[in-house]
Order: sequence, then structure tokens, then C-alpha cells
Amino acid sequence: MAAGEWISMTAQREALEQELAREQDHLDRYPEDERSHIEDILVKAGLTADTASRVSSELSDKPRENLDFHARVELGIDPEELGSPVLAAGVSFVAFAIGALVPLIPWLLPLGTPMLLTGLFSGLALFAAGAGLSRFTPRGVLYSGTRQLLVGVVAAALTMTIGGMVGVSV
Ligand SMILES: [Zn+2]
Repeated sequence: MAAGEWISMTAQREALEQELAREQDHLDRYPEDERSHIEDILVKAGLTADTASRVSSELSDKPRENLDFHARVELGIDPEELGSPVLAAGVSFVAFAIGALVPLIPWLLPLGTPMLLTGLFSGLALFAAGAGLSRFTPRGVLYSGTRQLLVGVVAAALTMTIGGMVGVSV
């Protein structure tokens, strides 16, 4: 699960870096087109053509800031927040470890029917893990939590079915 998170974050990061590289390429090859494009956007945002021209002129003297500005304004990318695959994988691992422990809680308590409670606690743990991960993805808490819960339920059902087929009690 941590590996899956790492892969998806890495892929996302690579895609964003590729877009940045393409933008840099445009800035190198068609600086005038890029300048007028940015000026159009600034004029639409309410600046006068004169101000827009001065902004784009000043930016074109600063390659680093210029790429940053184009990325934000044209692509909607914040180059400083491309996402960290390592962080996402670490969070996923911790969430998974907690998720694996929570269902054991009913067995530690003097309660009547642990099986039912185990299922309930498992569901809650899955939902909480998914909801926690939503912090690092564009998805909402409810979406992430529900998705994690459904994936977990399907995985559990498959495990029990396969376990039943090969005669192992789960
Ligand atoms: Zn551009």
C-alpha cells in the first residue's frame, strides 16, 4: 500500500515536472510568444496593457522567476509543491500499520462477540486511513475514506473466499 502510494505520487510528480520542462522549452524557443501570452492573461486579470508589458519584461530578465510565474498562471502548477513521494509512502505505511492494529482492539476488551466488532473496527480503521491520506491528495476526506473502506472490504472478501477455497480458516 505504501508502495502504491509512492508510485502514484512519483508518477504525478514526473508528469508535473514534464509540464514544467515543456514550459521552459517554450520560454527558450518562443520568448516573444510567451511574453504576449502572459500579457494577455494579465490584461484579462484587469491590468493595463502598459503594466502587463512591464511585468512580462521584468520577468523575462529573471529566468527562474519567469518559469515559476508561467507555471502558476498558465498551468496552475505550484513548482514548490509538486508533492513528496517519500512522505506519502511514509504516511501510507503508518496509516496501514495503525489500520492493522485497530481491529485487534475488541479482542483485548471483555466484550461478547469480537467478530462483529472486529469487522466494525476494521471498517473504521480503513475509513480513517483513507481520510488521513486525503490530506496528501486532491480528493476530499469522504471520498478517500470511502474508497479505502471499499478497497479494504473487497480485499477482505477475496482473502476469505480464497482462504475458504484452499481450506484455510482465516
Ligand atoms: Zn508560458
